[in-house]
Order: sequence, then C-alpha cells, then structure tokens
Amino acid sequence: MRLKDKNAFITGAAQGIGKSIAIGMAREGANVAITDVNFESAEATATEIKEIGVKSIAIKLDVSSQDEVTHAFSTFSKELGPVDILVNNAGITKDTLLMRMKEQDWDAVININLKGTFLCCKEAVKIMAKQRLGKIISISSVVAFTGNPGQSNYSSSKAGIIGLTKTIAREYAGRGIRANAVAPGFIQTAMTDILPDAVKDEMKKSIPLGSFGTPEDVTNAVIFLSSAESDYISGQVIHVNGGMYM
Ligand code: NAP
Repeated sequence: MRLKDKNAFITGAAQGIGKSIAIGMAREGANVAITDVNFESAEATATEIKEIGVKSIAIKLDVSSQDEVTHAFSTFSKELGPVDILVNNAGITKDTLLMRMKEQDWDAVININLKGTFLCCKEAVKIMAKQRLGKIISISSVVAFTGNPGQSNYSSSKAGIIGLTKTIAREYAGRGIRANAVAPGFIQTAMTDILPDAVKDEMKKSIPLGSFGTPEDVTNAVIFLSSAESDYISGQVIHVNGGMYM
C-alpha cells in the first residue's frame, strides 16, 4: 500500500495506459479521479475501480481547455480533497510526414499533449505548493529522444513535456513538489493497435528485449515516481522501452 489515502488526478484514464495506472494506484491504496474526454468510458472505469475498495470519481475533461481543467480540479477538490499526485497521461497522435502535415494536425497534438500538460500542472502546483507536497508524473515518449518519421507534431509535444518537467522540478522543489517523466517505447494499446503488422514487426527488431511493453510496465514506473520511494528524485525521465533507446 505505497499510496495509501493519497489522492490522484489522472488524465486520459478511461482506457489504455491511463486506466492501467489508475488501477495500479488504486491497488496501492490511492483514491483516483478518472478524467477523460470520453465521460461514459471514464464512468465505467471509475465504477470498476471502486470495486478495489478506494474512492474513485469520473470527471469529463478535455485537457486542452482551460475552462474544463479549472472545473475538473475544482470538482476533484470538492469530492476527494487536495491533489497529491497528478499524472499527465492524455495524448493523441495525428501522424503524417512534415510536408503533408496540416496546421490543424500540428495544433491538435500540441494542444492536447503539451498545452494540456501545462494547464493541468499549473492547476496542480497551486494546490501542491500550499500543502508543500506533491508528485507530478508526465507521460512523454521514446520519440522525444529519437525522433520518428511521420511524428513531427507528436515528438515535439513529447520533447516539450521533458522541458516542462525539468522546469517545474526546479521552480517548485522548494515547495516539496517532485516532477518527473516516464518515456515509454512501444506499448500495446489502442494507440498502437492501429499500426500495420509490417510496421510492428519492423519495430520489434529495434527492441533489444524483443517484445512490446504492456501498460503495466509503464504503471510500475509511474507508481514508483508517485510513492515516497522516489522522494529524492526530481526532474528525471524513466525510460520504459525494452532497451530500444539507451
Ligand atoms: P489511448 O489508448 O489512446 O488512451 C489515451 C486516452 O486519452 C483515451 O482515453 C483518450 O480518449 C484520452 N484523450 C484523448 N484526447 C483527450 C483530451 N483532449 N483530453 C483528455 N483525454 C483525452 O493511448 P495510450 O496508448 O494509452 O497512451 C497514453 C499516453 O502514453 C499518451 O500520452 C501517449 O502519447 C503515451 N505513449 C503511448 C505509447 C504507446 O506505445 N501506446 C508510447 C509512448 C507514449 P478517447 O479514446 O475517447 O479519445
């Protein structure tokens, strides 16, 4: 029970890696808010998590909207209390080569992945700074470090998250806030299921451990960074990628 009675705010938590993180944190004793752009799906996940024996609420949240972020944190405070842990997990892809990328595709990915992380961090640090304690974990990606053809928008957004994380770590260390990132490699979820088999086979060849990761592999790193076990760690990135980048 490494997170007993902690209150966690997780974005994009209705499915995939976010849902796995929410379940993992609940098993460690945390109360979790399942925030997601898809409210029905978030409600279903929150209902599932209550079975574990912790408090869980669903909140409709498009992380790229300042109004919705403000409202979501206010709902969270009223229903669960002060936020102890923020996990910035919501993310999308809109892949195509740079020459073909439409401005809307660039904006959509940057607005959700990077601006959404900024907006949620800003709300969370206001509360965490008052209680002089808090953990912020943001989900980046291996492509922030390697680049990836067809992902100029996505890799830029994920690299931006690293700069944001390090800056928050420096700005708020004095207030007891730790900010870290997790950079997954290829993880089996809805986001990657859509890739053609030929692409997946090619990617497997670039992974020294020879297989794709699972949402639970990412969850383990996030729980470590949320717990007291990582209290002397801030401004860092944990790579969860089977060795594909080192
Ligand atoms: P996923 O299965 O697509 O889950 C992402 C969740 O975020 C979905 O529930 C989605 O809702 C939600 N979402 C989308 N737009 C949102 C918005 N504007 N506001 C709030 N929530 C929103 O993706 P995943 O694979 O679990 O990825 C989770 C995170 O890990 C992402 O940040 C992703 O970039 C990162 N990551 C994934 C991999 C991988 O291999 N899977 C690798 C590296 C990094 P809808 O489905 O209803 O749109």
